[in-house]
Amino acid sequence: MSPENGSPMVLLCWGESSHCSILPVLFANSGDDVETWREIHRAWYARRGYWRKHLPGYSITRVDAVKISLLGLKKASKGRENREYIGMYTERDVPAERKLLQQTIDNYVPISDCFYDRRTGTVECGYGCNCFYCLPCFDDAGECPEETYITARRNIVHLNTLHLMKHVFSNPDLAVLNDFLKKENLLYSHRDVLDLTETWNSWHCPALREIEFRGIVVSEGWALDKRHITLPLLVAILLGVVVAARFLFGWDTAWNVGAFFVALISLLLCISYQL
Ligand SMILES: [Zn+2]
Ligand SMILES: [Zn+2]
Repeated sequence: MSPENGSPMVLLCWGESSHCSILPVLFANSGDDVETWREIHRAWYARRGYWRKHLPGYSITRVDAVKISLLGLKKASKGRENREYIGMYTERDVPAERKLLQQTIDNYVPISDCFYDRRTGTVECGYGCNCFYCLPCFDDAGECPEETYITARRNIVHLNTLHLMKHVFSNPDLAVLNDFLKKENLLYSHRDVLDLTETWNSWHCPALREIEFRGIVVSEGWALDKRHITLPLLVAILLGVVVAARFLFGWDTAWNVGAFFVALISLLLCISYQL
């Protein structure tokens, strides 16, 4: 994460909020959202193990934007290059953020003839606007009210759909029409990394934990649906019956019973795949 390197990066973290592992994922080029998410996906499984991708019923349960504080480099295990940090993360207070945005929308009163130009994505100020672009000599001039209103309306939609980021993490192709990284400010560009260093150097005796980073927290868990439970349970019961048949009637009968069940399971599997 050194500024000399200067590559764009994203911070991935996992574990307890008070004690988590943080992995910086560096990109050679961050222009393409899909490629960036593919890189994140690869980095996650390279670090956490590809086996977890194929474990039935075990999956990513949550991918969220959080604030991260770093404590320092993690102790490396033998023979392994360490690029991982320990620290903590703070959840965003989504209801509070939503309330604030809703208040901005509710309190909006058009006071001038500024309008939003959807082709450029900018607000064109009209006569009577008193924002800091229109009245640069006034110290108390704020953001254009139209701009504030439009930004709040968009941000509330982004906030309400933040949970969809989980699917982009699992399937990076979905990023083609959805720019979570940019909207949530999760990607540190070369410039952002340099800015962080400047902030850090501007304090007297700075501590690493004083810098607030933004990152992505990933949680995993067992999400068992009926299919994941039914089949293993069925196989276990049938095996039990075969073992019981062996003790009650001997191997000959047990073989016949077993063969019958194998045929039955094959039939059931065929039917369930066709459904
Ligand atoms: Zn304006
Ligand atoms: Zn203005």
